[in-house]
Amino acid sequence: MDGDALVAELQAILGTAGVLTEPAATAPYLEDWRGLARGTALAVARPADTAEVAELVRWCARTGTAVVPQGGVTGLVNASAPHGPRAMLVLSLDRMNRVLEVDPVNSTLTAEAGCILQEAQRAAADSGLRLPLRIGAEGSARLGGVLATNAGGNLTIRYGNTRELCLGLEVVLPDGRVLDELKLLRKDNTGYDLKHLFIGAEGTLGVVTRATLKLVPAPTQSATVVLALSELDGVFDLLGRFRREAGDHLSVFELMPRILFDLVGRHLPGARDPLAARADWYVLVEVETAQHRPDLQALVGDVLASALEDEVITDGVVAQSEAQAAELRKLREQASEAQKVEGYSAKHDVAVPVDRLVDFIRAGTAAVADTVADARVVAFGHVGDGNVHFNVQSPAGDPDAAALRAATPALAERVHDLAVAMGGTFSAEHGVGRIKRAAFARHRPLKHDLGRALKRWLDPDDIMNPGVVFEPD
Ligand SMILES: Cc1cc2nc3c(=O)[nH]c(=O)nc-3n(C[C@H](O)[C@H](O)[C@H](O)COP(=O)(O)OP(=O)(O)OC[C@H]3O[C@@H](n4cnc5c(N)ncnc54)[C@H](O)[C@@H]3O)c2cc1C
Repeated sequence: MDGDALVAELQAILGTAGVLTEPAATAPYLEDWRGLARGTALAVARPADTAEVAELVRWCARTGTAVVPQGGVTGLVNASAPHGPRAMLVLSLDRMNRVLEVDPVNSTLTAEAGCILQEAQRAAADSGLRLPLRIGAEGSARLGGVLATNAGGNLTIRYGNTRELCLGLEVVLPDGRVLDELKLLRKDNTGYDLKHLFIGAEGTLGVVTRATLKLVPAPTQSATVVLALSELDGVFDLLGRFRREAGDHLSVFELMPRILFDLVGRHLPGARDPLAARADWYVLVEVETAQHRPDLQALVGDVLASALEDEVITDGVVAQSEAQAAELRKLREQASEAQKVEGYSAKHDVAVPVDRLVDFIRAGTAAVADTVADARVVAFGHVGDGNVHFNVQSPAGDPDAAALRAATPALAERVHDLAVAMGGTFSAEHGVGRIKRAAFARHRPLKHDLGRALKRWLDPDDIMNPGVVFEPD
């Protein structure tokens, strides 16, 4: 089919507003956040509702056209944009962006898949509730993408990943049928719980069109602190103190290295060092509650005082206002942004059992020194989940980092091997995408093969985001 005929057929399904073909209009849909993929597309399709998605996917199935479901394009594993030799259609959910309902009795939020995460958080807050999912990209990431990557983030330690928050989904299958599993129910043992197939599937099994998520009561008070560790090993002692004292009020426990503060301070306006004393490692902690009684400021003050006395930490700051708390949070949340401005970085999103985290950071750092001596390790992450973003930044003054780029595949293999040998995983919260397909096949062969068989059964012509998670057929 020539280009004009294709556009005419798509316009017949979606109307003129639903199809983009001009290069200036399609450009933002064709490149992923890290610049790993800059592909071409037959067109960008922007359906307005589930019926249009279903008709479009039926058309793709009939014509054998591959399709990339797309949300906010903040994915980090080269899965969000077209890539490779096969002609692809981008299916953006950005017009399906409405919150449909916040239900205070069921404590749920139902929205279209193109709803921006931050908009969903706001809608929950407007009803005195909270969508307990916080990621650095929440101003751009959309619910469909967040579900398709099973995003984690800073609140996982308390509320789990997106999977734990999802009650129901509506999905358009690769043949265009609509699987309506959109439910407000917390109990539904009717056969297999199929929604889980699509959560974390990275757009390879269907297009998520609507979702219902669990909400929790909005916190009525919180306390946010940044603490300077005396030594990295002290991080477990500190975590234990907060767990003992704060119990399930502990919502955030994030490890950050000194270099992260330097990068954020250098590149992002308004960021400043929270503590006078310099340290190699810092921790951001938040405790929150929806109850009125416990005094959380006093609680964190007590933990801080005892940790200082026992020399687990050398310094600490407790936010005195919500504005100051937001400033402290920003140091961690802007990590990816600051690294991007600084130059190239090789990223490894790994998880190990919590007690192996420090061993992993040390062994990984040694592997980097061994591979590209002047590259800088920027290891930060969600200590309570054992998830570390073990990123390797361009050498100072060398943003293009040719040597590091060349060494990236070999380095990734070493870092992934280390994590796996410690009982961990090479893919913690960002997914497999195109960049970890080989690692998936190598480290988890049976899981890989079963998954591939499932994909072939549901999507025999491999039209849903081909080349992501598995090598293309
Ligand atoms: C600055 C920054 C900070 C980040 N912080 C975190 C973090 O703390 N925790 C974390 O887990 N991740 C984080 N990420 C990664 C990223 O934000 C998440 O993966 C996010 O969930 C992706 O959402 P998106 O809408 O941008 O999806 P996209 O990038 O558009 O797509 C991601 C994947 O989902 C698929 N997809 C998108 N929409 C649909 C749909 N409707 N149906 C089926 N498949 C779909 C795509 O095909 C692709 O495979 C961060 C990224 C950035 C840039």
